[in-house]
Amino acid sequence: MVVIGIAMLQGARHAHIGAIQRAANELSMNIEVVELRTAEDLQTQAIDALMLPGGESTVMRLRGNDVASRLLPALFSWMRENESRPVLATCAGAILLADPQDGGEPLVDAEIDRNAYGGQADSFESALDCGFPGIFIRAPRFGEVHNPIECTLNGEVVGVRKGNRIALTFHPELSEDSRYHRMLLEACA
Ligand code: GLN
Repeated sequence: MVVIGIAMLQGARHAHIGAIQRAANELSMNIEVVELRTAEDLQTQAIDALMLPGGESTVMRLRGNDVASRLLPALFSWMRENESRPVLATCAGAILLADPQDGGEPLVDAEIDRNAYGGQADSFESALDCGFPGIFIRAPRFGEVHNPIECTLNGEVVGVRKGNRIALTFHPELSEDSRYHRMLLEACA
C-alpha cells in the first residue's frame, strides 16, 4: 500500500485526490490518500509521497505558518529530510517549492514569477507541445531553471524536476490525462 499525503491548506485539493485515485486505478495500484492539515498530521502518519495543490500561495503561507497548523514548515522539513521522496506540486504549490521563504534552500532549482500571465481573466487552456492539455490559472512562470520537464508550452518551460520532485505551473489534476499523477505513483515503486 502506497500512502500519498496531500496538503489541505487551500486550493484545488479534491481534484488532486480524484486524479491520484484515477492514476492508481490505471496502474492497478493500491493507494491511501492522507489529508494533511497540521504538522502533527505529518508526524503521526507516514507518507511515501506528497501532493501540493494549486490555489493561492499567499493564503497557503498564512495558513501553513499559523500556529494552529504549522504544516508548511513541517512539509519543507519532510522534503529536506526525505530528499528522494516523490512530490508533485502544481501552480501555487510550485511557487512554494521554488520560493519557500523560510530561509532554507529552495526545494526545486528554479526562479518563479507569480501571476506572470496576468490575473484570473488571463487564465487559459492550451495544448502543451507534448499534447498534454495545459490548464493555466493565474499561473506563475519560471525564470531560469535547472532540469526542465520535457513538455513545454510553445517552447516555454512549464515544469521542473529535481530528482523525484516535480513542480508544474499548470493544473494536470483538472484534465482527464493522469500522466503526471501516474509519474508520482511510479516514482514510489
Ligand atoms: N496566482 C497564484 C499564486 O500566486 C497561483 C495560482 C494557482 O495556483 N492556480 O499563488
